[in-house]
Amino acid sequence: MDYQITGHTRLGGLLGSPVAHSISPMMHNDSFRALGLDCVYLCFDVGPERLGQVVQAFRSMNVYGFNLTMPDKEAVIPYLDELSLAAQLIGAVNTVKNENGKLTGHNTDGIGYMKAVKDAGFDVIGKEMTLLGAGGAASAIAVQAAIDGVSCLHLVSRRGRSWEKAKHLTDSINQKTACRADLTDLADTAALSALLERSALLTNATSVGMAPNTDATPIPDTSLFHTGLVVSDVIYNPRETRLLAEAREKGCPTFNGMYMLLYQGEAAFRIWTGQDMPVDLIKQKYFSHRD
Ligand code: NAP
Repeated sequence: MDYQITGHTRLGGLLGSPVAHSISPMMHNDSFRALGLDCVYLCFDVGPERLGQVVQAFRSMNVYGFNLTMPDKEAVIPYLDELSLAAQLIGAVNTVKNENGKLTGHNTDGIGYMKAVKDAGFDVIGKEMTLLGAGGAASAIAVQAAIDGVSCLHLVSRRGRSWEKAKHLTDSINQKTACRADLTDLADTAALSALLERSALLTNATSVGMAPNTDATPIPDTSLFHTGLVVSDVIYNPRETRLLAEAREKGCPTFNGMYMLLYQGEAAFRIWTGQDMPVDLIKQKYFSHRD
């Protein structure tokens, strides 16, 4: 029988600006239908200036929860009642659960990335990892990698906007987790080379190489890639960035950011419903052209 929205249907969705391009409504609504859950997920174009009003309305309307994307991930924090450990350390929230008016903020971006590592067939737990960038995606990955048990996290950032934030992030990881974190300037090629020699995994979490600037790479010196290094990119447009193409040519296994996107959604779905997203169905329908 066709699904019908009724007086019992519960609402949730995505807040941010812009949001119309998002794949999340398809992922979540298809999953609700597959599992017979009477919920819907919609996109709402809301920037930080109206965010407080909308979050209060969502709380009052008993929505099951919502996602946040740019530019609302940090701005939402003052309107929430509690934060998960990861959301506290990252300082950003992408998923909120509403339990009878109590709003708890989570961050599933790092969970999504760490599951994508496993899904690609690699195990980085107890090993060293080099992570490029110190923005939203990098912070989420750094914190989740540390929580999950990566032994050493080498954060590599340019001395720009997020340098101070990167220092704070490595300090927090060292204080709150068993992982050892350090920070290196991206311009220091000799130091980067030494870090990559020790690392099992390199992750680009900068926006360098993202469309339309597909000629750019954060590591122009391809002699830094060694065959034991897995190289990944959180970018999924293009599917293969210049970084991934050059690493592949050097014999490194590679994977892109498509499954990070899928698995951050899967983790949010579990937080809201307590049930497993039908990942195979969603993969087949929306992620089959990931390479
Ligand atoms: P962000 O918060 O703006 O951070 C961007 C990072 O890239 C910052 O550390 C920035 O350094 C650095 N950067 C930018 N241009 C650079 C350059 N020319 N050289 C060196 N570093 C540079 O953005 P974000 O939200 O973390 O997103 C980063 C990328 O991840 C984007 O491509 C986004 O699409 C992707 N992403 C993917 C997923 C997924 O599910 N696969 C999820 C989230 C994000 P400064 O601070 O110094 O500018």
